Amino acid sequence: MNTTSDDVLHALKPAIDRMPDPAGRAEAAALEAELATVHGVRHAIAVSSGTAALHTALIACGISPGDEVLLPAATVIMTVAAVTAAGAHPVFVDAAADGRGIDLADAAAKTTERTRAIVPVHLAGRTDGLLELAAYAQSVGLHVIEDACQAQGSSTRGRAAGTVGSIGCFSLKDGKIISCGEGGYLLTDDDTLAARAAAYRTHWLTPAPHAPAASRLGMNYRLAEPLAAIARHHLAGLDQALSRRREQARLLYSLVGETPGITMHAPVPEDTPNGYSALWRIDLDRPRDFSTRLAEIGVANSVGTYRLRAAHQHPACQDLNPAPCPRATRAVDRMLAVSLQSQTTDTELHHLAETIRREARTWAASR
Ligand SMILES: *Cc1c(COP(=O)(O)O)cnc(C)c1O
Repeated sequence: MNTTSDDVLHALKPAIDRMPDPAGRAEAAALEAELATVHGVRHAIAVSSGTAALHTALIACGISPGDEVLLPAATVIMTVAAVTAAGAHPVFVDAAADGRGIDLADAAAKTTERTRAIVPVHLAGRTDGLLELAAYAQSVGLHVIEDACQAQGSSTRGRAAGTVGSIGCFSLKDGKIISCGEGGYLLTDDDTLAARAAAYRTHWLTPAPHAPAASRLGMNYRLAEPLAAIARHHLAGLDQALSRRREQARLLYSLVGETPGITMHAPVPEDTPNGYSALWRIDLDRPRDFSTRLAEIGVANSVGTYRLRAAHQHPACQDLNPAPCPRATRAVDRMLAVSLQSQTTDTELHHLAETIRREARTWAASR
C-alpha cells in the first residue's frame, strides 16, 4: 500500500524531463482526463489549491459583488475566504437539529433575492442531507457548489460527493485522500461552467496559452506540472487508499467502542463516507479542551490540532454580521474528528484508541 519515494520519483521523471516548457501542461491535462474518467463526469479542471477551486467555481457560476452565498456555519475558514474573494457576501446557515449538515428551514429563511448559490461542505467526508439540499437549491434556482475537499470517494445513495452540485471542489493538499503537496481540482458536467473555470484558472487566456488578449481578468491558479505528475501517481492508488482509510475508521470505531462521553457519529444509512476522519461526538465537560488535550498527546484531530470552530465565530468573520447558528457551534465544539493517514499502522490505531478511552475516563472522573 505504501508508495515509496522511488515510485514518486519515477512518476515525476517525464514532467521534469520536459521542463522548462513554458506552455507545457501535459501532466495537468492527463490528470484532468483521468479525474473525469474516475468520477464519470465530462470535465475536471486542475488548479493550484482547494481554495482556488472554490474561488474558481464561484466565478464560473457568475457569482459577483452584491451576491449572497449560503454556506454552513460548520465549515473551515477557506470556504468563507473563497466567497469573499469572489466579492460576494457569505451568509452562514445553522446545522440541522441533530447537528448534521445544513438546516433547510434556516437556509430557506436566509434565501433572499440576492442569493445565488449554496456551498455544502462535506466535513470529515460526511455528505448528510446533500440530496435534499440540492433539491431545495434547484427549486429556488440556486447553484450548488460542493466543498468536497474532505470528501474524495464519499457517496450518498450511490452518487459521488462533488458530482451532485453544479460544480464539486477538491483539494490535493497533503493529508487529503489524494495529494501532491498543494493542489486542487473542480468537477462538472456543464460545458459552459467548465470553459469558464478553465479560462479563469489561467488569466482567461484561452484556448491556447498565447492566444490574443483576454476578454476578462482571471487568475493564475494553474497546477504545476511536477505536482500534477505526483497527483496522477496517487490517483492511480485511489481505490486502495479509500479501502485502507475505511478499514482504519472501522478498526478505530470498534477499538474505542462504548467509551462513556464518546459517541460514534454513525453515518446515515444512505451515505458511504470515505474514512477521511473517524468521527465521534464528545459528551464531556469542556469538549474543546478535551480535544486539545488529545492533540497534545498525539491524537491529531480537527478541533484540537487545527483549531476548527464554527466559521462564523472567527474574529475575521465578525464584520460579516453573522447570525448566531447555535447548533453548528455546539456540533463543531463537540466534534471529535480524528485525522487518519493511509500509512497509519494498526498498532498506531490501537494506541490512538487506548489514548482516547483512557483520557475520556480521566476527564469524566476529574469533573
Ligand atoms: C482542505 C480544505 C479546503 C482548502 O483546500 P486547500 O487546498 O488547503 O486550499 C477547503 N475546504 C475544506 C473542507 C478543506 O478540508
